[in-house]
Amino acid sequence: MSDTQEPQLPYTAIRHPQCGQWWTGPSRSHCPACCRTFSCDSAADRHRQGRFGIDRQCVDPATIGLVAVTKPWGQMWQNPGDSSVWAKSRDADQAAA
Ligand SMILES: [Zn+2]
Ligand SMILES: [Zn+2]
Repeated sequence: MSDTQEPQLPYTAIRHPQCGQWWTGPSRSHCPACCRTFSCDSAADRHRQGRFGIDRQCVDPATIGLVAVTKPWGQMWQNPGDSSVWAKSRDADQAAA
């Protein structure tokens, strides 16, 4: 209703009305609490620390080893080395030095 100054978003864009940020990619995960965008659920899950419903909170993704990448639509956090968007996230990520 009040979309007066919205840029034309690509038809693939997904937008979070509460913060106005948008992104593309169906596997992205946007945190409704801190409004950061993550490459996938597993990356997003890592920045949520604590117990569900008790002291669940967001932490700075950089402090838990996620890396920021700049997308045309903004900043996205992803697991290090996660170059393939479509790669199945490995839960057992052992530090392959
Ligand atoms: Zn968050
Ligand atoms: Zn948001």
